[in-house]
Amino acid sequence: MNAVNDNDRLVDPPKACRICGKPALVRFKPFCSKRCADIDLNRWLKGAYAIPVVENEGEDEDDPGRA
Ligand SMILES: [Zn+2]
Repeated sequence: MNAVNDNDRLVDPPKACRICGKPALVRFKPFCSKRCADIDLNRWLKGAYAIPVVENEGEDEDDPGRA
C-alpha cells in the first residue's frame, strides 16, 4: 500500500520555510505550515494594499451611540 501522505513530506530538495526557517513541507510549499503560508499571504496582501488610506472609512457599525 502506498502512503498517500506525500503532501506531508519535506520538500525535495529541502527548503527552509520563508517565515520561520523550519523545513518546508510539500503540502505548504514553500512554507512549513498553513500558518506560515497565511502569514506570508497576509504580508503580501498588506504590501499590495499598502496605499495611503483615509482613516474615516465609515466604520460605524459598532458605534454604540447610534441607536
Ligand atoms: Zn514556517
